[in-house]
Amino acid sequence: MTIYLINPSHVSFGIGVITPRWLYVLASATPADFGEPSLIDETLNPFDTATITAGDIVGIGIHTGNALRGYEIGTAARAAGAYVVFGGIHATLYPDEARDLGGAHAVVTGDGEQAWPMALRDCASGRPRPQYDGGRIESDRFLPGRWELLPAGRYMWASVQTIRGCPKHCSFCSVWRTDGQRPRQRLVEGVLEEIVDLRRRGFRFIALADDNFYPVTLDDLRMAARRQDSSQLERLEAIRAERFALMEALAGLPGDTVFFTQITMEAAEDSEFLEAMRRAHIKGALVGVEAVTPEGLKDVYKNFNESGEALVERLRGFRRHGIHVLGSFIFGLPSDRAETFDATLTVAERAELTFAQFVMLTPFPGTLDFAAWEKSLGAEPPRVTGVPVSRHWLIPQANRPKVYMNHPVMTADEIRRRTQAVWDRFYSFRSIWSRSRGAVTSVKARLAFVLISKIYRQMYANTGIATDSARINRSARWARLMAIPCRRLFAGRPMPELQAALVRPREKAGRMLEMFDGDLTH
Ligand code: SF4
Repeated sequence: MTIYLINPSHVSFGIGVITPRWLYVLASATPADFGEPSLIDETLNPFDTATITAGDIVGIGIHTGNALRGYEIGTAARAAGAYVVFGGIHATLYPDEARDLGGAHAVVTGDGEQAWPMALRDCASGRPRPQYDGGRIESDRFLPGRWELLPAGRYMWASVQTIRGCPKHCSFCSVWRTDGQRPRQRLVEGVLEEIVDLRRRGFRFIALADDNFYPVTLDDLRMAARRQDSSQLERLEAIRAERFALMEALAGLPGDTVFFTQITMEAAEDSEFLEAMRRAHIKGALVGVEAVTPEGLKDVYKNFNESGEALVERLRGFRRHGIHVLGSFIFGLPSDRAETFDATLTVAERAELTFAQFVMLTPFPGTLDFAAWEKSLGAEPPRVTGVPVSRHWLIPQANRPKVYMNHPVMTADEIRRRTQAVWDRFYSFRSIWSRSRGAVTSVKARLAFVLISKIYRQMYANTGIATDSARINRSARWARLMAIPCRRLFAGRPMPELQAALVRPREKAGRMLEMFDGDLTH
C-alpha cells in the first residue's frame, strides 16, 4: 500500500518556484507505520495515475485553480481501486463537489494536521467517513515540514509558515474566512528549527508563507488603547511582541539568508517593525496594493490602504528600510476605467516597486465578491461548455474565460488586453534593466535580476492571461528552460553544521503568547 500526497497542476515547469509546503507538513502528519508517503508535485512534472494500484491511499490537496486537475486524478485513483481523500481550501468550501466529481471517499475540511491521520486510519481499515472536520487548530499543533523528503535541486525557494489567519476582510480574499481572523502564531523555537533545517540543506531563500506577516497595526494599538478594558490592548501587544521575538531570532541567521513574506501596506508607517524586518533578513514582501484610487479601494473593502501620492510615498517607505516590494494590483474593478491601467503602471514605477503583478478580478469561492456575483447571476447562470460560469473552475482550461464579472464600461476582452499590456510594459527589457540598478549593484546581479523578472512574468502572466494556446505553450516551454539556471541563482551552500541553538537569541521567547487566547476580529 502506498500513501500518495498529490499537488495537482495542469502546467509543469520542471523546477518549482516555492516548495508546496502542505505536502511536507502532511508527510509529517502521516503516522510512521504507513511508511514513507510518496509526494507528487505536478508543478514539477505531470503525474502518471497508472502507477496507482488498488488499496493505495491518495491524498489530493486543491485550491480553486487546480481543482479540476485534482478531480481528474481523484477519479482515476478511485477507478484504480485506491481510497481517495481530498483536502485544501477548495475541498473545504465544496466537499460535495470533491465527492461527486473527484471520486473522493473522504474530504478533510479545514486544517489537515490532525484530520489527515484519522482519515488514513479509517481508509486503511476500509471504513472512511465522508468528512473529517479539521477545524482551525491552535498554533502549537502546527507541524513542521519533513524537508528530508524534498527532491534535490528542484525548488528555488523553501517555505515556512509562522502565522495563520488575517484580521482584515478584503472582499476578493477567502483567507480571513477559511483561516479565520484571529492570528495563530507559531512558537519562535519551532519556526527557527525548521528554518535552520532548510538552511542546512542549502536553501538560503525562504518564503515566510503567511497570510499576513503584520497582524497588528499601529492603528489597532491606538484603537485598543482608547478602550476602558485593557485586555484587548494586552493581547495585541503580546502578538506584536511575539513578531519582534521571531524577527530577533531570524536576525541571528547567516547573513546571506533572504526571507520574503506577505504584508499589508500599513506596515510602511511602522518604522520599528520595518527595521526589525531588515535585521531579520526579510528583504522582500508582497504588498496587496490592489487599486490606486480611493474608489477602487472601496470596491474591495481595502480602505485601510492609501491612494494617489500618499500611496507612492508609503510604498517607497519599504524601500527606505531595505525591503523590496512585489506590489499586487487588481484590474477590472467596477470603478476602473481605460485610464486606470496607465495610472496603475505609473504608480508601480514611481513607487520603486521591485516586482509587480497585475491580476484580473476573479470571483473566487469563499469570498464576499463571489457570493454577490453568484447571487447576481440568478438561478440560471450563463454556461460555457455546459458548465455554469458560477462554477468556472470546472470549465476545461482551454475554454475558461479570463474575466467573469460584467464591467460597467469595459468589455472582458478590453480588460484582458489592457492587463496584458501593463505586464508587457512593466517587464520590458528596458524597464527591468532600469529597475535592476536600484535593486542590486554588480552587473552579474543585474543580469540575474533580468532573468528572474522575465521568468516571473512568463510563468505568471503569459500562462495565466493569454487566451492564445500557442503563446501559453511557448511561455511554459521558455519558463521550463530558464528555470534551471534561475534555480542555481537561488541555491545556497549547504550548512550542515548550523545549529538552531546558536542563532536563538533568548530562551523561551516563543512562550509569550500562550498566556493569551482570544478573538481579534475587527
Ligand atoms: S489583508 Fe491580505 S490576507 Fe488579509 S484579507 Fe486582505 S487580501 Fe486577504
